[in-house]
Amino acid sequence: MAYLFESFAGWKEYAEAKKMALHEVVLEYEHEQKGRSREEIYTGLSRAWDVMKDAVRTGLEEDMTSRSGMINNGAKKVYRYPKAVLSVEFQRLIARALAAKEVNSCMGRVVAAPTAGASGIMPGVLFTLQELHAIDDQQILDAMLLAAGIALIMEQKASIAGAVGGCQAETGTAAAMGSGAIVFCLGGDTDQVFNAVAITVQCMLGLVCDPVAGLVEVPCVVRNASAAAIANSSAQIALASVSSVIPVDEVIEAMGEIGASMETRYKETALGGLAATKTGQAIAKKVLIRDIEMLPDQDAV
Ligand code: SF4
Repeated sequence: MAYLFESFAGWKEYAEAKKMALHEVVLEYEHEQKGRSREEIYTGLSRAWDVMKDAVRTGLEEDMTSRSGMINNGAKKVYRYPKAVLSVEFQRLIARALAAKEVNSCMGRVVAAPTAGASGIMPGVLFTLQELHAIDDQQILDAMLLAAGIALIMEQKASIAGAVGGCQAETGTAAAMGSGAIVFCLGGDTDQVFNAVAITVQCMLGLVCDPVAGLVEVPCVVRNASAAAIANSSAQIALASVSSVIPVDEVIEAMGEIGASMETRYKETALGGLAATKTGQAIAKKVLIRDIEMLPDQDAV
């Protein structure tokens, strides 16, 4: 029977016992659980990768103004800004994560990896990684499989939904997937990949879900950019074999414990945090009035 993705320690043990690469264990799981052939799985991954790349391009080339007006072509502004804070590569990473997420906020096509709210992180990370290190498409697809295994365990041990575990569960999981994928593509071993996951999650613990007006726009879009940056910083640390000290399974358990104890107002209810600020409330009121005005006239029916 295929490995059931209950823990990172178990995943490592299983892969070593069966002499399989980490992503091959996910491939076996997908095949056994869903009855899909290897070819079908890779075809699906390839389609998802195309959608991710399209989302980055769309966000950087087309008008990205959301109905609320809170999202207004921020990715393009970042991409074209003449001064790079660190490097042009870092600037592009940030712009691409923003771009793909803006496409989601403007109702465009994205891959939920693992959720729509966090849909800019993997495209931003993988697009930049491929460009910088000339990673071939097959390795990117294998990295996506590996990332799916990371998300499977995080879902079981904690959560991947903001409504259940706060934003740490959504953008935190996507950042962990991205970080693991980077280390994998750059030749890291299992311990380095899992350390990248652990370090990433350590940096995102406690992040609440507080979307203004209940729309997945603010702070969601900018959190996709910061999560992409954390994925990269954690990968850099893990590749050098710097230990996370707390083993990855325990880090994810801590994330689950924090999510479970988080107050409901910080779980996508738009009742706390940024959503509850004076400005956040004023925006929510404006969005509500506009939505009521747009309702069909009942008398005219
Ligand atoms: S704030 Fe909430 S809705 Fe926005 S990305 Fe985070 S988890 Fe998703």
